Amino acid sequence: MADQLTLGRRGLLAGAGGAVGLYSLGQRRARPVAAAPQRLPRDDPFTLGVASGDPSPDGVVLWTRLAPEPLAEDGHGGMPPQPVAVRYEVATDEHFRAIVRRGTAPARAEFAHAVHVELDGLLPHRWYWYRFRLGAHVSPTGRTRTLPEPGAQPAALPFAFVSCQDWQTGYYTAYRHLAAEDLDLVVHLGDYIYEYASYGPDYPRPQPGTEPGDDSIRTLAEYRNRYALYRTDADLQAAHRAFAWVTTLDDHEVQDSWADETNLQVPPSAFRDQRAAALRAYYEHMPLRRRALPQGPDMRLYRRVAYGDLATFNVLDTRQFRAAPACGGGRLSDCDERWDPARSLPGAEQERWLHAGLADAETRWNVLAQQVFFSQWAMDGDPELFSMDAWDGYASSRERVLRTVTEAPVPNFIVLTGDIHLNIAADIKADFTDPDSATLGSEFAGTSVSSAGDGTDLPWWAPTDLQTNPHFAFINGQRGYVRCHVTRGRWRSDYRVAPYVSTPGAPVSTRRSFVVEAGHPGLQEV
Ligand code: FE
Ligand code: CA
Repeated sequence: MADQLTLGRRGLLAGAGGAVGLYSLGQRRARPVAAAPQRLPRDDPFTLGVASGDPSPDGVVLWTRLAPEPLAEDGHGGMPPQPVAVRYEVATDEHFRAIVRRGTAPARAEFAHAVHVELDGLLPHRWYWYRFRLGAHVSPTGRTRTLPEPGAQPAALPFAFVSCQDWQTGYYTAYRHLAAEDLDLVVHLGDYIYEYASYGPDYPRPQPGTEPGDDSIRTLAEYRNRYALYRTDADLQAAHRAFAWVTTLDDHEVQDSWADETNLQVPPSAFRDQRAAALRAYYEHMPLRRRALPQGPDMRLYRRVAYGDLATFNVLDTRQFRAAPACGGGRLSDCDERWDPARSLPGAEQERWLHAGLADAETRWNVLAQQVFFSQWAMDGDPELFSMDAWDGYASSRERVLRTVTEAPVPNFIVLTGDIHLNIAADIKADFTDPDSATLGSEFAGTSVSSAGDGTDLPWWAPTDLQTNPHFAFINGQRGYVRCHVTRGRWRSDYRVAPYVSTPGAPVSTRRSFVVEAGHPGLQEV
């Protein structure tokens, strides 16, 4: 087996690793990466930690990136231009006594020496430990878990979801606590990085590399270094080491509020290149499968993740294909255009894929894991003021999803949301203007990890919005993550919050919990 390849005396082969899913970065057939002796970095190349993601019942993606000098200005992490071969080991114990897989994977300059190893042949629903080696350097050990098989009936799915981690505005205290939770999986709903320049010295973590007033990042080197900066954080690294992640992106991985080829700041011709650079850097830094490899400015990110017969996550990409914003481009607005049936938020192709998947739903719980707020949300006490960046700006698109949920019917429909830097729990109504209309599911929006800083328990406007939107059960403005425990009988979401993120070390506590009983749509207080 190719995964049994060992190091030759003078460098090594990347291996004909197709049989074990050795990931050769865009090429199915691997080729030798180092015929001459490798030039290995003297300093620790594993400064960005390790990660795993996109688990399946028989495999998972292992990730690392070699960066002895993580913020080197050229975006290459202090690595020479030559490719190097990185060894990896996978074991069923944390001490690597029982190694079940070992092999080599290429790290190439064209991918900033990122390494993606796409494993298969593993056993379902098991813990594995993994690490990388380069020369004398050994990476930190990561832990990951495969998914149950499609026919399996797992008793429970413990997972958490997160979003929005602006490095400058706070510490990743949420991740420190999340890493210690008992979870199978972490879902990241976007805003993994922010593209902004430095906010200045008054913010909790002054950002190196840019000055206040600079343009936001635009180039591949800049995006790479922004990911590298974020990934040097010990708490974020710990959360990646602890669990497999399923990630999707929102706007700030590219540019604030972008919609397909339109955005607020950059002319379309230049934006195409920027989007290609941004998606490339996103791919390089996430534990994604090879099918997500971007082609220029395009990337296939939406996908389904099934956890036995218990839950299906429809992981959406609501940025790449969305129609241009409605109603003249203001952030908050209202007009007939948002109901135009020709406009889509997921885009026509992804919408077809979503509807086909929902119509065939075979699992107990059926989930949208996605970016922007789904339910109707009339803002500021005004029944006709909506966010044009959220599903409200694409109301016909939402109506079509709800029609499929009703007609299929889709059992136990749950929406998970990031983006808004707020905890909100809401019921999804057949008619949001009629509290007596049918409840079709529930939405759990999770707050930011750090974006917008310390936050506050009850934002000043929240009482008004709770009144104007009677389907809302809860609004909270603190930082944290949402921990979920899903069984056949019920879904439980715990809103985990930290009282501050402007300095490190805050505790975390459960601010509020909700359950949904299977077969009985609607939020219930615990
Ligand atoms: Fe955000
Ligand atoms: Ca966002």
